[in-house]
Amino acid sequence: MYMRTDICCRPMIRMSFRLTPLRFLILLCAVLPRLLIASLHRSPLRISLDPARHAYVRSVLPIGQQSLTSCRKRRFHAPVMHLPVKDTIITHTNRSVRRSERITARQYMRMKNDRMILLLVIFQIVVSFPCTIGKAQADAGDYAIVVSANASPAERYAAETLQDYLNLLNHSDYEIITDDQPFDGFAFCIGATSVYDTSDDIKNKPADSYIIAPFSGGLAIFGAGGRGTLYGVHTFLEDFCGFKCYAWYPVMVMTSDKMVLPKEKIEYEPFFEYRNTDWRSGWMPIYSAAHKLNGELQSYTPEQGGNIPYLGGSRCHTLSTVFCPSDTYFETHPEYFALHDGRRVPGQLCLTNDRVYEIVLEEVFGILKAEHDPEADLQIISLSQADNPYYCECERCKATDDANGSHSGSLITFVNRIAAAVSEKGYHNVAFDTLAYTYTRKAPSLIKPEANVIVRLCTFECCFSHALDDTGCRINRELAEDLKAWSGICGRIYIWDYTTNYAYTLGIFPDFSTLQKNMQFFHKHGVRGVYEEGNYYVDRCDTEFGELRTYMIAELLEDPYCDYDAKMLEFCTNYYGKGGGYIKEIIDELTAGTRGHLGIYSRMGDTFSIDDEKAEKIDRLWAMAESAANGSDASLEAIERSKLSWRYVKAVLGLREFSGSLEENRDARERFYNDLIAHDVRMIDEWTWIEDDFSAYEMIPVE
Ligand SMILES: [Zn+2]
Ligand SMILES: [Zn+2]
Repeated sequence: MYMRTDICCRPMIRMSFRLTPLRFLILLCAVLPRLLIASLHRSPLRISLDPARHAYVRSVLPIGQQSLTSCRKRRFHAPVMHLPVKDTIITHTNRSVRRSERITARQYMRMKNDRMILLLVIFQIVVSFPCTIGKAQADAGDYAIVVSANASPAERYAAETLQDYLNLLNHSDYEIITDDQPFDGFAFCIGATSVYDTSDDIKNKPADSYIIAPFSGGLAIFGAGGRGTLYGVHTFLEDFCGFKCYAWYPVMVMTSDKMVLPKEKIEYEPFFEYRNTDWRSGWMPIYSAAHKLNGELQSYTPEQGGNIPYLGGSRCHTLSTVFCPSDTYFETHPEYFALHDGRRVPGQLCLTNDRVYEIVLEEVFGILKAEHDPEADLQIISLSQADNPYYCECERCKATDDANGSHSGSLITFVNRIAAAVSEKGYHNVAFDTLAYTYTRKAPSLIKPEANVIVRLCTFECCFSHALDDTGCRINRELAEDLKAWSGICGRIYIWDYTTNYAYTLGIFPDFSTLQKNMQFFHKHGVRGVYEEGNYYVDRCDTEFGELRTYMIAELLEDPYCDYDAKMLEFCTNYYGKGGGYIKEIIDELTAGTRGHLGIYSRMGDTFSIDDEKAEKIDRLWAMAESAANGSDASLEAIERSKLSWRYVKAVLGLREFSGSLEENRDARERFYNDLIAHDVRMIDEWTWIEDDFSAYEMIPVE
């Protein structure tokens, strides 16, 4: 179960409510009786309004001896279920046993034996009944979470997740019962149950699809594959209960104090079957589940539905290291390895050598025997080239490559052979991944990948300031052509994409204007999986807009056609505080200040076109964001951390306080260095430790 320390109860509700004459009348009718009840008992009221729907009163809660003011201030601690009025739940302090009990209004009235209350409540039911939501609720006597008596561990986990958060939201104690127990109340049916079986709806849907279906007896949440039901629960928690997931800590925040039930059926099918990133937040199972990330880097337990793993422990450059290792075979069998420039080299395999095929196949079956899970949605084995250009030029390899017009010819032929042999043995949930990378990036003209072969195309050489479909960018034009060619012959293309600058990680990588366009480009060309490689050493260089990136990437993987700007603004406002809009403005300014092409090793001077005047404007926006944070420690910390990257950009480009000679800007450098240390930033880029190359603040590189 979740650690409660991961949950932040920081209230961030934003309400807007327009009082029309009709609403006022309804409100008056609904509130008056309760005011009278309360006055009789000298107890304060708790009144909740749902701004998104008609105004109505959900519950009246006499709470001890608190004043109305304090009660309102603590509205986040109210049980605020949308209960039918006749069964309004009252929290009552039973003084004889010194604990709170939850009883219905009728029980409360009986207990008080007060006829006046009875009359008033009946009147209140009459006037406010039309304002309660949902037919199901009107008939519900109680609430429970229902799972099948034969529920899978993943379905049980999904039910427990719902229970945990609903209890937190409503301060209630929802019970999980099985569908063989009698129950005539409002049922949250989680997974396949006999109460509301959605198996027909979900049949033939791909893994990770889910359905959220209101029905006369409650609400059913059901998904396909191991994780689908859990994903459905998280969508319900996010969209209808206000549990949002913005960052790695606190991983879940409450942005609402109430649950609103959906009226219409919701159906979701994933745009991509494989959704992966190595930015830090995605390392956390709760974050991954909330954002539907499912790759091998997301550490789901089997009870949570498992991830999509790479079997054999390695996900790239495997052929000459894992399956036919040069350490083991090169000395005795150099013919297993590539003939390049007239001599055998250990860097790549000779893929048309039959003995190599047998060795690799044997190794694959060994891995399957040890690690294969027949219940998993998908498991992947990587059969991929090493990270060097020494492809085999022997007679047979060359003939295959020449016939296909690409070195991918011999590679796909080899991987197809292995994939077909494994498929024949009945391993239908296993796929083989290979790379379309450097010398194999171009699609073959004859051979087509088998259905269980994944071709992973890398955007390593691409430009990220221009979209992939920007025909004006000569760098991207080639990759776009390659992708189109692969999508013509391969039904399972995955993308290995990049979202940071590995030579200047501490700086800013202004790719925010192309993230969505590229994700849509992938989807439109039949891509079925995306891995967004980022700053995987973020625990040593946690600056820039890392949390924002993870959030936007996750949102785009979930839906490439989402409202990108609105999502970004929502994130900024919730993560950076009330001045989040200024942070978005800064990002827009930096993006607009980008010049030329942008690679993942681009120098800062080649990346930005920013003069002192523009830098001053951006500085002003940071100051406004800080001021709007209004003293919130969490917001200020988030702003300060991200601002380190902007300060680094200024330092490298010699802007503002970093202008002039080393002597003149010594103070600014010293302050910056000390702030990096204070924020535990220990690396500048993928390889350089601050302690090694950055220890003297004079050494901040100036281009
Ligand atoms: Zn060869
Ligand atoms: Zn470009």
